[in-house]
Amino acid sequence: MNMKFLPAASLKDWLDLLRSHGTLIAPVKEKDGFIAFRPDPDFEDITLDYQNTVRPIREFFLPHSETLFNFETVQNGFDIERNKPEEPLVIFGVRLCDACGLEALDRAFSGKYTDPYYTERRKNALIISLFCTEPHPACFCEGVQKLMTGPKGADILLYPVEGGFLADPLSEKGDKIIGESKKLFKEPDAEQLKAKDAMVEKAVGAQSCIVDFSLLPEKFKELPPSSPFWREEGEGCVSCGVCSFLCPACQCFSVQDISDGKSGKRVRCWATCQDCRFAKMAGGIDPRPEKGERHYHRLSHKFADAPARNDMIFCTGCGRCIRYCPSHHDVLETLKKFLEYEEVKP
Ligand code: SF4
Ligand code: SF4
Repeated sequence: MNMKFLPAASLKDWLDLLRSHGTLIAPVKEKDGFIAFRPDPDFEDITLDYQNTVRPIREFFLPHSETLFNFETVQNGFDIERNKPEEPLVIFGVRLCDACGLEALDRAFSGKYTDPYYTERRKNALIISLFCTEPHPACFCEGVQKLMTGPKGADILLYPVEGGFLADPLSEKGDKIIGESKKLFKEPDAEQLKAKDAMVEKAVGAQSCIVDFSLLPEKFKELPPSSPFWREEGEGCVSCGVCSFLCPACQCFSVQDISDGKSGKRVRCWATCQDCRFAKMAGGIDPRPEKGERHYHRLSHKFADAPARNDMIFCTGCGRCIRYCPSHHDVLETLKKFLEYEEVKP
């Protein structure tokens, strides 16, 4: 699959063609100055001059809250009406860390067990990523997933170069989409390809990662959640759940039936393992009553269980949990200290 050059002057025409493939979702600057992905924006409102959005794109695949089906009691059972699938999505301008987050969600929702709601949205979506030329200091996508040198999760990756974009098809779907609009694309020249290589090198150099992730699975086995290390780590955490709600690779949800006794609906909404009620069971039993235990759970799931079970660390290095935690927990600092920690035996 060959890289092509899209002149900046052809971007609007390309986006108009992409709109025929589904609802276009792109980053726009909101009145409060924040950048957010919004459906069906006017071309003039789309901004590509941003580091990253506060919220990742997972809400378009796993909404915060969605009705799975409506039900009505009838003689001998229920009538069930499933929610209709929406129009396909074309998500434009996604950072690689967020595109890669979909790979983690794929493993959870389209792996051994298939969730039809997620899987349909994902199968029909087209993801067009935009390379990060100036990563935020909290980002570590190259360190944890090698995303800058081995991008994944998107169908097409755009590199902004002088006068336009180099478009790299990462999937067959992406290649087909570029092929369909080939009159808008040109062959790239040597200067543009050189500029792209220099851009990747510069962005990789701008990131640093202080953790050797390969050592974590063994360390999590050594140091249990009851260790003083985790007790100290839990201190200061206010259990707000921001670290998981803003994470592109987190996927926990809860399900509730809302009913008047005759009819009702089944609703799924996001949940967070940092909530003190998250693991509570009937009879009030709670396997993780302490904040430190919940931190252990979150991090061991991402960095030890997920690679063992799903062949992928469930962190894409987006840095959001570092940037937005109100108590300034820093996942990299925690993991670094954890690897260095030696328990003092009595
Ligand atoms: S964002 Fe920070 S304070 Fe909130 S639950 Fe996560 S670690 Fe705790
Ligand atoms: S764990 Fe933190 S840095 Fe990693 S993907 Fe989630 S929010 Fe981003």
